[in-house]
Parts: sequence; C-alpha cells; structure tokens
Amino acid sequence: MKSILVRETGGPEKMQLVEEPAPVPGPGEALVRIAAIGVNFIDVYFRTGLYKSDLPVRLGSEAAGTVEAVGAGVTALHPGDRVAYAMMRGSYAEYTVVPAAKLVKIPDALDFANAAAAMLQGMTAHYLTHSTYALKAGDTCLVHAAAGGAGGLTVQMARMLGARVFGTVSTEEKARIATEHGAHEAIVYTEQDFETEVKRLTGGRGVDVVYDSVGKTTFEKSLNCLRPRGMMVLFGQSSGPVPPFDAGILNAKGSLFLTRPTLLHYAMTPQELEWRAGDVLGWVASGKLKLRIDRTYPLAEAAAAHRDLEGRHTAGKLILTVSGPA
Ligand code: NDP
Repeated sequence: MKSILVRETGGPEKMQLVEEPAPVPGPGEALVRIAAIGVNFIDVYFRTGLYKSDLPVRLGSEAAGTVEAVGAGVTALHPGDRVAYAMMRGSYAEYTVVPAAKLVKIPDALDFANAAAAMLQGMTAHYLTHSTYALKAGDTCLVHAAAGGAGGLTVQMARMLGARVFGTVSTEEKARIATEHGAHEAIVYTEQDFETEVKRLTGGRGVDVVYDSVGKTTFEKSLNCLRPRGMMVLFGQSSGPVPPFDAGILNAKGSLFLTRPTLLHYAMTPQELEWRAGDVLGWVASGKLKLRIDRTYPLAEAAAAHRDLEGRHTAGKLILTVSGPA
C-alpha cells in the first residue's frame, strides 16, 4: 500500500510517499481501507517534531473508510461497514489498523470526505463547548482562528448553546466566513487590537471563556480579555508554543482558570466517544452543523496540504483522498 512516512522531522519536504505492506489486524482491531483523510495541525507537529514520536512516523490522525477485515474478538464490526475515527496515528495511507473500540459507524447520509472532515475538529469543538467550559445561554466567548477548522466548528457549537460569540481572523474574507459560522462579531486581529475590541464589546467586563488555538501570539492578550474568574482554554499553538510563564499572572489578572486540554482525554471511554461522535456526525447529517471543506488533495500531495495549512491560506477542512484498489 502507499503511505506517507516521515523518517526525519522537518519541513513538508520530509514527507515521503512510500510503498509498504498493508498492516494486519490483531485481536480487537479492524483493518480499514481508507477513502478520505482529514488533515490536522497536529500532523504538522508530528512532522516538525514539536510533538514527539518514534521515527519513522506515519502521519495522520483521522480518516474514514471501509472495514476490510477484523481481528479476533471483534464482533461489533464487519467487513463492509463504513467507519471513521480520530486521534489514532497513521491515517496518511491506503490502509490502517485501528482498535475497533475507536471506530464509529458513519450515518448513511454522510460520504467519506464529510465523515473524515467531521471527526477530529468536530469532537474537539464538542468537548471545548460542552465540557471544558460548558457554555450556556447568555455566556460570552472569544474563539481565535474562527474561520479555521476547529475554530469554525467551535463558533457554530457555541451559537447552538446560546452564547454570544466573538471570533478573531486574519483577513476580511475570513471575517466573512467566521460570520457565516455564526460569530456575532469577527475581529480582524492582524489589523485591530483584539483585546481593545473585546473590552469594548463587553462594556469592559471581559468574556467568560477564551478558546485559544493560536498560542504564542494571542495567549497574553487572551488572558486580558477574560472577566474575573474566567477560563482560558489553550488548546493549540498554530503560531508557536506559549513560553513558560509565572502562574502568579493568573492571580493578578483576576483569579483566572487555565487549562491545556486535548481530545484524547475527552474521549477516553466508549460512551464518551459515542456521545461526541454521535452528536457531531448526526448534526452534520441533519445539516445543523455545517462543514466547510476548503481544499482536497490526492494522498501523494499531502505536503502541499501542509504548506497551505501552515501558510495560513486555508479556512476550514483539508482532505486527502485515496484512490486505492477498487
Ligand atoms: P486551523 O484550520 O485553525 O488552521 C490554523 C489557523 O491558525 C490559520 O488558518 C490561522 O487563521 C491561524 N494562525 C494564527 N497564527 C498563525 C501562524 N503563525 N501560522 C499558522 N496559522 C496561524 O487548524 P486546525 O483546526 O487543524 O488546528 C488549529 C489548532 O488547534 C492547532 O494548534 C491544533 O493543534 C489545535 N487543535 C487542538 C486539539 C486539541 O484537542 N487540543 C484538537 C484539534 C486542533 P487566521 O489566518 O485567521 O489567523
């Protein structure tokens, strides 16, 4: 099978299209023939080495496809089932092996590209808005990179929950997209000071929660946007990691709460995975949640997808497609 391997960490040029044997499912696992792969920023981090992994590493954290075979003890899945998953490494390939417990069945109404697009960023938006800081009607939140993959879905779910939503974006075009997702206000943070804007929009009070995936360039001002005892949810670092800081800052800026969550810890049990994936895929199937697939590339052009994502050129989901054996 074809797959994308990284033998040494670095730029997109380190991604190599290789031929390797298809894996064989062990006990409790399923072999999935992949049809569509979701590209995520986490794949960039494994490529650059910001997130550590043994080398060589096969990139990719989510996909959708068809069960080809199952290992011993797997009774809930059968060859031919249409499935999707997230947060298991190695999806930039024609085949992959996944623990059966991590696979969810795709509703008939969804094609593979939409299923792959929904899983990781959708479940992330779900846990951020429903669990990490569970929004309720009347809450105010700030979502950075609000036209992005995770950001756009976070905006939509925050609106579903009745929150007032401010989003930051780098261009007027992305502002239009963030507004389409449901942001009440889109702040172009490359031109406007987002802290000043948030203070103005909240009459000086600050927001209840900031969902910050941008990190280095937004972190400190994000803290300034919070009301006393507000919550800073730092869930990514698209602009680079936040440097070490003095925890006393949280006291000085209003007894703030800070968390650095990951989806892994919010989908730990089969019940939790079923809840989040069920909500997300169900909402996409019913049209309540809108996916924005911005660009699609063949698997062999995964490096181009990384360049576009890192280059800040995209607004929504990037998908790699696989045209494996029929
Ligand atoms: P996005 O679609 O959000 O793409 C990244 C966006 O970040 C860009 O489009 C850009 O939006 C913004 N950005 C701001 N500064 C920079 C910069 N210097 N370089 C590049 N981009 C920048 O990607 P994802 O939705 O895949 O991921 C966003 C972040 O969320 C990542 O850090 C990712 O790791 C994290 N994440 C964390 C999860 C978790 O569970 N903790 C799960 C999923 C994602 P603009 O042009 O508008 O500024």
